[in-house]
Amino acid sequence: MIENPPMFQISNKCCDFAKKKVAHNLIHDCNYDLSIVGVRKSEGGVRAQAYKNCFDDNNDNGCDNYRPIFWYKDQDKTDYENAYGIIHSKCYTEYGLKRTGCVGCPYGKDFEYELEVIKQYEPKLYKAVNNIFKDSYEYTRKYRQFIKELESKRE
Ligand code: SF4
Repeated sequence: MIENPPMFQISNKCCDFAKKKVAHNLIHDCNYDLSIVGVRKSEGGVRAQAYKNCFDDNNDNGCDNYRPIFWYKDQDKTDYENAYGIIHSKCYTEYGLKRTGCVGCPYGKDFEYELEVIKQYEPKLYKAVNNIFKDSYEYTRKYRQFIKELESKRE
């Protein structure tokens, strides 16, 4: 980034303003006293690791946090799906994605693979994300190429 400074703005505030602050403002404005989130410990990842159990008091903002499926293992999930006839998004059943979030998030390490999937199954969405994240994709591609060249020079 020092050798090739970006010509567009980059921020780590995307999740903050698009998701976290929206949820916090809603809790505050509507005076909710319980937040329920569907995170499982066994799914791993940063989010699941951030919690120790399925409930915590949060007296700072007066809103407690409850994670009803926190202890569900993969088999529990399968049993639940079968018992209640859960129909999953086509993202999982047809497109082959393992996880989902914001479509085409340029921070995702596998965004190229995700773009291929979106291109194949959701062409209009593909056009949309390329308009929104065009600069980020291009810059990340150049960055990855730069790293590759650097590593081969070192070898
Ligand atoms: S696009 Fe990516 S960085 Fe932005 S809010 Fe979504 S997950 Fe966060």
